Amino acid sequence: MVNPYYVRQKYSKMFDLGQTLRFRGTVFCDSGGFQLSTKSLLSRKNPVKRYTQDQVLLDQIGLGSDYAAALDFPLDPNASERANMARISKSLANVERAVNLVQTLKTKATIVPVVHGYNRGMMRFVFQRLERLEKELSYAFPLIAVGSLVPLYADRSNLGSLRLVHAFQALLEFVPNHRAIHVMGAGSPLSMRFYYWLGAQSLDTRSWVTNAMFGKIVMPGSQGGRIHTSKLIAKFGPKANICNCPSCKNSNLRNLSMSRMKRAAHNAFTYLREFKKIRRELRAGTFEENTVRLLKKRVFFRRIIKVGSLSK
Ligand SMILES: [Zn+2]
Repeated sequence: MVNPYYVRQKYSKMFDLGQTLRFRGTVFCDSGGFQLSTKSLLSRKNPVKRYTQDQVLLDQIGLGSDYAAALDFPLDPNASERANMARISKSLANVERAVNLVQTLKTKATIVPVVHGYNRGMMRFVFQRLERLEKELSYAFPLIAVGSLVPLYADRSNLGSLRLVHAFQALLEFVPNHRAIHVMGAGSPLSMRFYYWLGAQSLDTRSWVTNAMFGKIVMPGSQGGRIHTSKLIAKFGPKANICNCPSCKNSNLRNLSMSRMKRAAHNAFTYLREFKKIRRELRAGTFEENTVRLLKKRVFFRRIIKVGSLSK
């Protein structure tokens, strides 16, 4: 998973990721829609100006994308439904534009629509439009990404959890069979688990980087509980070595506190470990039971479980 927005900030010319990094896996390229929408946060760090759907797609193709997310306009939980519907329409217009462009360019990239909606009505509108697009353009979307969940997840009130459940319920209702659901910005290892439990087949997260930025690390098995390195130093001392992942093997807590890169790499290893654990549990048939037990420990999830098991 790559975000062309950040590549564009650093490089004026795109490069094929598979070739440059000798990476043989699938490349899924985000659109940068979220980064564009949070301009205020990025304005001081040379924002990418006039990043249009066409430019985004050309960058995604330049990076060698197998899957390319259409440039979307995330919803604002505090905006009116009308304002949010206008964003949804703009996102859908970009999906159409993106499909037209890949069909003209005859590129291997598959367009991924990023859907948004807080309730059944909004989601139904989105999927009716997508179905019409598929017919009109003779195109199929094998992967459907869902965005705008981050603010709902971050909203720890009743409203946030209810909106999250309703959005996902509607998603499961309207996503056609045999299409995979991808969650954009899934967050901590526990929320990764949560989204798989809801019925997602794929997800991405950048909270391992964000945590590292704020001096925090996540330990395996802590289900996303993050701790600042200064607290660990106060407890174990600066010379302690608390982890044997490739990033920490030859580093003590002081080294970790001094290097954002080391923290980010450590967090990445933790997240990958949790991800592998989830896969093992899915294979062994213990995922459901383990997940519900872990979710029940948090108020936010307890509320959601009460509303009803969604995909089951
Ligand atoms: Zn480590």
